[in-house]
Amino acid sequence: MRRRDQPMDVKYWSFAGLMLTCWCNARCVSCYLCSGPDRQEEMKIDFALRLWRELIEASPHGCRIHLSGGEPFGNWLRLIELCRRAQSCGLRPLEKIETNAFWATDAKAVRDRLSALDEAGMGKLVISTDPYHQQYIPIERCRLLARLAEEVLGPDRVQVRWRDWLAEGTDTDHLTSAERTALFARYAAEGRDRLNGRAAKVLARHLRLQPAGAFAGRRCREPLLRSRHVHVDPEGRVMPGTCAGIVLGKADTQPIADIWRRLEADHARRPIVGRLAESGPAGLLADARAAGFVPQTGYAGKCHLCWDVRRFFALQNLHEGELGPRWLYAEEA
Ligand code: SF4
Ligand code: SF4
Repeated sequence: MRRRDQPMDVKYWSFAGLMLTCWCNARCVSCYLCSGPDRQEEMKIDFALRLWRELIEASPHGCRIHLSGGEPFGNWLRLIELCRRAQSCGLRPLEKIETNAFWATDAKAVRDRLSALDEAGMGKLVISTDPYHQQYIPIERCRLLARLAEEVLGPDRVQVRWRDWLAEGTDTDHLTSAERTALFARYAAEGRDRLNGRAAKVLARHLRLQPAGAFAGRRCREPLLRSRHVHVDPEGRVMPGTCAGIVLGKADTQPIADIWRRLEADHARRPIVGRLAESGPAGLLADARAAGFVPQTGYAGKCHLCWDVRRFFALQNLHEGELGPRWLYAEEA
């Protein structure tokens, strides 16, 4: 039993993203959540409010909430209703909302929405822009949104990922397939992308690959247990902030505080999370090989290897309690 003065293995969750939807107008090759126009999962407003309250109450330090997707502006009326209801319930703070700016086509409408979100308690607006997003969203919309958001909210409340691309980038939908592939490969080599989901399937092939054995000993205790950051998907799966598809618990059937307590109590015994925390993805290889997994000749990083092994397990319906949703793993590249 843990002594009272012993540090906890699992840090309290202080930053949480509510994934309001898996729908997105875009289908970026870098998307570690495999969002796209064909996804229909949506988080109900009452469920989002329950999660919001439970996340704040589960940590003695509180929890800062951000809203993401998919693309949360795909359903504006739902987004603003959620923010207003959270505010009227006294649920604070709403740290930020993330968007790809696809909706920023008209200056007056953009100003109106930003003012409404400001009044409803939004802290920051985060705008995503890079070569992958600009295959689907004209960069002028990102520039318009960034300019108007700085005007309405003030520059300190506008975050752009990434500023260098916003300043110098171009649309990439008009490029030939070969030109786009070359640009994506150059950009991916800068190492800003998380190699899970579609990014692992599509982007990783452009990077320098190493055999699976090269990642031995690269343990994952920090991102899984110590990062203080989680995401919750529309169906209530609680996932580590940077590790899409790893399920720490299901909030549709359990309060957030119970999910945290169970993780603190039994993480070391969990076949996926426990093994990854202790040994990293190379630690999953023996079990995977025994079940028929054959490693690829090379991987672009430990997260790419992790994704490949987890995908194998998920498609074999193994470790279903810790891996999901299944469609995330099943998407064809
Ligand atoms: S990366 Fe963002 S904008 Fe692109 S498909 Fe995923 S959710 Fe949509
Ligand atoms: S290797 Fe897996 S568990 Fe570790 S950080 Fe990457 S995705 Fe997360």
